Order: sequence, then C-alpha cells, then structure tokens
Amino acid sequence: MSHQVFCAVIRGARAWVEKAEEEFKKARGEMGDDATIGFGEETAFCLPMAYVLMGLEARKVKDLEPILEHCRELLGPVPSEKLWLPYLGDGLDAGAATMLAQEVTTALMYGRGWKPEEGWQGFISDTIMRELGIQLVDGRMPGFAAILGPAPTAEIAQKVVQDLQMRSILSFLVANSDGKTMREQLYETEVIKPEMSMKDCWDVFVVPVGPTTLDAIHVLDWSIRSALTFGGRGLGESRECIDYTKKRIHAFGITFGPIPDDWYAVGAAAILLGYPIISDSETTPEVRPTGVTVREAIVVEKDPDKMVPTCIDTRAVKVKIEKVDIPVAFAAAFEGERVRKDDMQVQFGSKFSTAFEYLHMVDPASIDDGAIELTGPDIDSVEVGGAMDLGVEVFVGGRAMQRDFESILERQVHIYVNHATGLMHTGQRDLVWSRISKKAFNAGFRLKHIGTILHAKIHDEYGAIVDKVAVKIYTDLKAIEGRLTEAREAYRWRDDRLGGMTDESVDIFYSCTLCQSYAPEHVCIVTPERLGLCGAYNWLDCRANVEINPTGPNRPVKKGRTIDVEKGEWEGVNQFVYEHSGHKIRRFAAYSMVDAPMTSCGCFECIMCLLPIPNEKNPEATGVMVTNREYTGPTPMGMNFGELAKMAGGGAQTPGMMGIGRLYLTSRKFISAEAAQKRLVWMPKELKESIKERFLVREKELEEEGLWEKIADETVTTEMDGVAVHSTEVSHPAATMEPIVY
Ligand code: SF4
Ligand code: ZN
Repeated sequence: MSHQVFCAVIRGARAWVEKAEEEFKKARGEMGDDATIGFGEETAFCLPMAYVLMGLEARKVKDLEPILEHCRELLGPVPSEKLWLPYLGDGLDAGAATMLAQEVTTALMYGRGWKPEEGWQGFISDTIMRELGIQLVDGRMPGFAAILGPAPTAEIAQKVVQDLQMRSILSFLVANSDGKTMREQLYETEVIKPEMSMKDCWDVFVVPVGPTTLDAIHVLDWSIRSALTFGGRGLGESRECIDYTKKRIHAFGITFGPIPDDWYAVGAAAILLGYPIISDSETTPEVRPTGVTVREAIVVEKDPDKMVPTCIDTRAVKVKIEKVDIPVAFAAAFEGERVRKDDMQVQFGSKFSTAFEYLHMVDPASIDDGAIELTGPDIDSVEVGGAMDLGVEVFVGGRAMQRDFESILERQVHIYVNHATGLMHTGQRDLVWSRISKKAFNAGFRLKHIGTILHAKIHDEYGAIVDKVAVKIYTDLKAIEGRLTEAREAYRWRDDRLGGMTDESVDIFYSCTLCQSYAPEHVCIVTPERLGLCGAYNWLDCRANVEINPTGPNRPVKKGRTIDVEKGEWEGVNQFVYEHSGHKIRRFAAYSMVDAPMTSCGCFECIMCLLPIPNEKNPEATGVMVTNREYTGPTPMGMNFGELAKMAGGGAQTPGMMGIGRLYLTSRKFISAEAAQKRLVWMPKELKESIKERFLVREKELEEEGLWEKIADETVTTEMDGVAVHSTEVSHPAATMEPIVY
C-alpha cells in the first residue's frame, strides 16, 4: 500500500474510532449502561460486524466498550512519515476498526430511536438480505456496487448506474460532497424518482442507502451477514466469513472525486472483505497486486464510459448483457419495476379486460421462426390509460421439445416481458395483468415487440430444446375467445399431470444444488410431491432443466433400494446426498422433520419447527408451527422468521426444524412420518389463507374435516401457551396425539 494511502487510511480510521468513543461516552451519561442499542427486530445478529469479527453479541450500551477497546488495538501506533509498509496488513486492520467503530456509532443512533429520512434505506434488514440472496443465488444479480458519490455530473451518475442496471448489478448510493448526493443526480435524470418507495428502488437495483459516509457501514453489514446466512458460518468465525465474502460476493466500491481520509478508511474496510475500489480521480494512487495481495485493491478509471467495464474486470464479475431489438432498455434489473396508473398508456387483463398467454409445441415444419403476427388493432387505437383485450400465443418447435416443458417455457413469458423497461407483468395463464407505460409507448414500443422479446429470449435461454419460435398476438376479442378453449384445456392437463403424480410413481428424483454457491453443503432433493424449498422448482421443472442443461444444477437421482417407506429414505438418495454435500450429510429422509430431515440453505419460503402444546390429557403433546418470510411478526416459538431462519440456515440438517416451499404444506408427503398435516397448529394468517383451497382437499383425504379452521394464527395468539389452550379448545388432533420424539 502506498504510504500516502496508508496514512490516509489510518487517519480516517482514527477519526471514526474517536467519533464512536465520543458517542459512546455521551450515551453512557445520557442513556445509561443498560440501555438497549442496535437494530432491533431488523436483524438476528445484533451488531453484525462485532458478531462476526469479535464473536460478540452486543445488545446494550455497556457491550460497546470491548468493541472500542478492540478498535484501539487494531489501530496500532501512528505511522512514521518515513516508514514504508510493503503490504496491506495494518491498513486492513484499520479497515476492521473503521467498520466496528461505524457500527457502534450507528447502533447508538438507532438505539436512541433515530430513523433514516424518507427515501434513504439506512440499515438493511435480514429479510431483505435473504430475498436478495435468492437473486444472487439464481444469477439474476451478479454482484453489487457501493458508490460513494456524487458523480462529477448528473449525466455521469446516470451513465454509470444504468451501466450497472443493464448488467443487473445492484447500486448502493452512499455519502455526499458539500451536501450534494448521487441520489439527487439520479432524480434529476429520472433513473429513480422521489416518489418511489424503498421497495421500488430495490426492484430497479438502485438503493439510496444514506447521505453520509457513515452509511457505508449498512452495505458492509449487509454483505457480512450473507456469510452467516448462506455460508452457514457463526459467531466469531471472522476468517471464514471474510473468506466467504472474498470468494462469493462479487462486489466493488466506486468513488468519485479526490478521496478524503474518511472514505479511504471505508475503502480499506471494503478491501478487507475482498471488494476492490475503483476511483475516477487521477490523484488516487493505484494499489495493484504486489504478490501479497492477489487482486488489485485500488484502480483508477477516469473515463466514465469505461467505469463499469473496469469494475467488472477488476472484481471478475460474471455478467450477461441482454440484447433484444426493442425500443426500450431490456435487462433483468427491470424485472420488478411497476407501472403506476398515472404513467400507464394501456393495460390488459385482470378486471379490466380478457387476457391470456399460452405456449405450446408444434411441428417445427408448421411455423416460420421469428414470425410475429398481430390480429386486431395495436395499442395506438385506445385512449391513454385505457384497457385492451390481449392474447399471446407462442408456438415452439424443436426436436428435443416435449409437452412437459411447455409450462416451464410459458412461465418465462412473465420473466422476459418484465425485463423490458416500462412493461409490467403479473400472473400467468388466463390470469395475467400487464401494463405498458406512456414512456415505453412514446419510445415506440408496440405489441409486436412482445413477440420480439419472446423470440429472442427463448432462443437465447432454451436453444438446447427449441429450434423455432413464432408468436401470435390477438387483440380482437373473437380471435381471443377462439384460442382460449384450447389454452384452458392445456392448463388443466398440466395441473392434473403433476397433481396426479406421486413419489411412488417415479424411479428418479432430482437434485438441485443451485444454492451451493452460497451454502456449499446444501442439496435439495425434489420429488413429485415435494418441491424445492425456495418454491421455485418442482419435479417437472427440474426434469426439464436436466434436459436443457445436463451439467447444470439439477441432476437425476435414482431412488435405489428403499430403506424406509414411512420416512422416505432410499439408498440411492442417501448416496447422492453424501457425495454432493462434501461428505457431510449421510442420511436423508424426505418425509420426516426430525430424523435426517432435508438441509436448509437460506432462501426457503417458510420455516417450520416443533411446538410443545401440553394439555391435561397429554402433557407431552407436540404440534408443528410454520412461518413464512413475508410475516415478520412474533411466532409462538418466541422468535420471528429471521431468528428461526438463523437456527436452520446455511445448509445444515437441523432435526425438528426445516425450511420448506409453501406448496409442500399441502402435499400428501408433508412430514407424513410424523402424522402429516394433523400436526399443524399455528401459521400466519396470510399463509393460511393462501393454502386454503389445497388444504381443504388434503384434510378430506386425512378424514380430518375442519382441520384448517383449527389451526391458530396471529389473530388468535402468538404465545406458546395460547396455542396449547386453543388447540385443546378446538379439539385439534395434535393435542391428543403421541408426542413427536427424536
Ligand atoms: Fe436452492 Fe433448493 Fe431452490 Fe435449488 S431448489 S434453488 S437448491 S432452494
Ligand atoms: Zn437456497
């Protein structure tokens, strides 16, 4: 590290530590030693940086004292002007001190009830971290950039952030220069808008974190927690966690203008976690690999057009730029974008009109590849803000195409259409609702472009099975009705097909190891009656993916000799899981949550665990409670989703606890080794409602009519005793069943 950089880092770090010490002293006097500090319900990891780097669970003012002592140790003596250090060591220690000190300062602010101003994110919750994790896992998001700005001009800010968006890389905006922030520059250029909610900002991959340099800690705090959640690491495993962020999190920092000392200190912190810094200022000395560091630590790129490509090269981020010939921008980053009523040119479906989409295979000789046909008027024909009927029929042909793949390909329509800016799409089949914005319309977007998108993307991603794609678009109601009958027959056929499939009817299950990039020991075994715990992959999807990408994350798994029918244990599955879990998991039972249950990575839709519900007749009665990611409130276990998830995540096998996909709750194989759905005694209301229809079918099969009604939710109680009382009152079957033992 050049001497200049080194001195700046140390000076900056000292200032951060001094500020934290000052705040700490003040807090001691004003709040007292025992006052609660930190980020409350937002995280289960107290002060995440201290949790990882020091193995410390700080919850009160007095817990901050050892952190500050440690900061002082890390800082060491003031560097002499002549001393030259050939490596980063002490500079990185100063980076660690900076993070710990920044965390202390922010934890005290939050402890006093401070909240970020409207339009700034502030602390990033565990919930967001998990949701984001999924996108990092499935490749929708290749990495993130922490930008310390503003940029020299609003246009440069726009250029750099859009370059990142185009590659689906998340931008975190931090800091200011004389009160000016990058957020203002992006408002000016309409990359984001002041009226956007924080959720909208996340959806378009641009997150204003905070207007001060101190806010950088939120980004670092977020990234270190991914090592805990997805890497399966724990309290005090600093080396492993840093190793994890270095290897798995493709992040980098961007700084605009000459770097002040306080930024240098934050930069050292980022470098410690493995994130290089790219600066646009010629006054910044570069820190290139020296033999001690493997990678560049600080790189200068003065050309705004080359900024993002340089970042990507430096951090070796893998990206795929999508090129689709339409008049609006197209990238995964735009997937979650909403089109508001006021910004809308036209909409289709929902309660406003008839709309459907239907993809099916045809004889390749019967279609022309790339043919796009519109039957009926285009969107110029309706008034601004109006509604139109819309049918989208996609014809695909290819030697490797099968009818079973239709639903998987059809589901991509939703994803692909959403990737275009100014297009919004929700739902599927004949339950779609989509909108086109005025901006997209004015840029020249017309209905045939939907065909352009589908043609390009299906070829691009499903080239292995599809040779030809043609699209017919209908806006004429008669034409739509003419095609709906066949479409609806196909939808029904697909439902019945998976619905009727049982685990017994197949010899092969599928594995999914997509999440191993984050939880190296995790393996999902997907069976016809149990989908992947993220809820995104069922057996048919996995089978299709094997065909499409034989060396990908899904592999066929031969069941082999049956070891236990009740618990769902097979020799072939055990062997596969053993081999693919780094020889960590020896046994795997598909239908049990207590004996060799499936491992849980970090992105499960729901988490379930045992819940004691003692009563007079049966003092050891045990039920099972479930909670879902969206429900952040308390549960009868005394923990919320995040806290429970922390106990089960990271690819570990945790008897009595398990991450699952929503649909598994109504499967015939739902913990059938432990008496199935009859054990379910509590779940959040929204989850309960969402599975109602399927559950009512299932309770009939179990000859337990009325079971759904007997399950308590948060409107009944969130206390363990409350569930016990309620279960007895309503004669819940679990109250009189044998306890679950393990
Ligand atoms: Fe991850 Fe399992 Fe979903 Fe695959 S099926 S993406 S391994 S959670
Ligand atoms: Zn996962």
